[in-house]
Amino acid sequence: MTDPLSPESRVWVAGHNGLVGSALLRRLKAEGLSRLLVASHAELDLRNQAATRAWVAANRPDAVFLAAATVGGIQANVTRPADFLYDNLMIAANVLEACATSGNAKVLVLGSSCIYPREAPQPIPEEALLGGPLEPTNEAYAVAKIAALKLAQAYRKQHGSRFISAMPSNLYGPGDNFDLATAHVLPALIRKFHEAGQSGTVTVWGSGRPKREFLHVDDLADALVFLMRRYDDAAPINVGTGEDETIVELAARVRDIVAPRAHIVFDATKPDGTPRKLLDVSRLRALGWKHRIGLDEGIRSTWEWYKQTGGKRQGASQ
Ligand code: GDP
Repeated sequence: MTDPLSPESRVWVAGHNGLVGSALLRRLKAEGLSRLLVASHAELDLRNQAATRAWVAANRPDAVFLAAATVGGIQANVTRPADFLYDNLMIAANVLEACATSGNAKVLVLGSSCIYPREAPQPIPEEALLGGPLEPTNEAYAVAKIAALKLAQAYRKQHGSRFISAMPSNLYGPGDNFDLATAHVLPALIRKFHEAGQSGTVTVWGSGRPKREFLHVDDLADALVFLMRRYDDAAPINVGTGEDETIVELAARVRDIVAPRAHIVFDATKPDGTPRKLLDVSRLRALGWKHRIGLDEGIRSTWEWYKQTGGKRQGASQ
């Protein structure tokens, strides 16, 4: 099999201004790849079928990382379900159809651990997909991501397209979203403790009892490059650390690093979301990949990035 990431390869990172896309660009540049294809949101709206088809036909990528998505934390998912379902369905459908009908790109579709049923066995094996009802707070996003991975499988089956999909656990890292209304829990807590300082109080949403698994986005980018080269199967593959902790433990961890004397209170009026979504990563481990960045180290470098940038990504459109 030829390497989809050879020095001559034309590699499209769809969603290059996002958390995952920007980490992928860093990783691919470090790999020495120079024919990297990107299009800003203003240049190409992936929800537009004709524009997406034309762009793919003109640029003819050899490899595609589909990291473009409308994403957000629990509150954004609850308040904007139509955006999360419509945008993500359209992005996946348009990119996969364009790549299937124009050229022979290998495409890696990025999903999420929220695709699995709320009551899935823990840790969650890939086979748990569609075994039960979804967590209501992120059902719209999950349905779009399930449709995307099923579409990838369908093109594979019907047309032999080299489409694969990877399901990461909760991601964080440099380039994260620190807007408290739309952020995920980890950047939200970093910002809240940073602003609280030594004597302030931080409000943590929900009961603190849910457990979450956190993967540094640079580890994810490394795994995605690994999978693009080594994985060619219809089954989605989980990407995580294999370890999780409660929101209470996470809040104490972030406090100890950012503001050790700050106080923590819980706001029980905010939703907990799914009780637990620890991924079973044994398939990825068996292929030979394991994460490298520990949670304390990752929180420190993400806080550093936040202090340096104020939470604003360079080149980001919003
Ligand atoms: P989820 O993994 O899809 O539920 O998304 P989040 O990362 O937004 O939330 C994870 C958990 O952290 C939920 O139980 C939230 O209630 C909890 N949490 C605690 N404090 C915060 C906060 O300040 N922001 C967010 N987004 N979640 C918080």
